[in-house]
Amino acid sequence: MSGLIEANVKALLKELPTHVVLVAAAKSRAPEEILEAVRGGVKIIGENYVQEALAAFQVVGRQAEWHFIGHLQRNKVKKAVEFFDLIETVDSLDIGQEISKRSAARGKVTPILVEINSGREPQKFGVMPEEAKDLVKQLGCLPSINVQGLMTMGPEFGDPEEARPYFRVTREIFEEVKATGFPGVEMKWLSMGMSHSYRVAIEEGANMVRIGTKIFGPRS
Ligand SMILES: *Cc1c(COP(=O)(O)O)cnc(C)c1O
Repeated sequence: MSGLIEANVKALLKELPTHVVLVAAAKSRAPEEILEAVRGGVKIIGENYVQEALAAFQVVGRQAEWHFIGHLQRNKVKKAVEFFDLIETVDSLDIGQEISKRSAARGKVTPILVEINSGREPQKFGVMPEEAKDLVKQLGCLPSINVQGLMTMGPEFGDPEEARPYFRVTREIFEEVKATGFPGVEMKWLSMGMSHSYRVAIEEGANMVRIGTKIFGPRS
């Protein structure tokens, strides 16, 4: 196995346009595997679970930045705020308020992205597209968070072309919010696209992609 992860990362970095940032989606991977990805050139690690992130951090440390890309529960916000450089999955005012409160207590401002449920799937997280603009505006008013963009998963399809409309919807919200210009909001990052869909996502304007399988291989 050794060497393969590193080679996968190098190939990806070569392929990605220079304005696109790679987040290595590391859920269920061993800290040593994550370390190998970092050796290959990964600068940002995406974690879905706070505990898993802390275990990986013991090995990898601050050689990379850490993004939270899972669903954030209220009782994990304190730890998340202490640890993560960017929380990509804020989808309610309630969780935003908790992040702001915990950040203020640490004397920091936490950068966040707002997660959009672009496929309007009831079982998925994220704010509905038509409610996104209001939420972004309200989050921007909170004192100790900084809204830096949007994130979406989108429905999963065998054919990545089918994901295109959902990436496009998210991009349209991104552009609209940017054009409106809310205080405390800086539309800098559009995080969308995974192993099978990142090429389409980039065509639709993503400048941050979250890739797991294509770096680490299939999850067991
Ligand atoms: C697992 C995961 C990814 C990466 O998925 P792959 O298909 O393995 O590339 C991206 N984003 C989130 C939020 C994830 O949980």
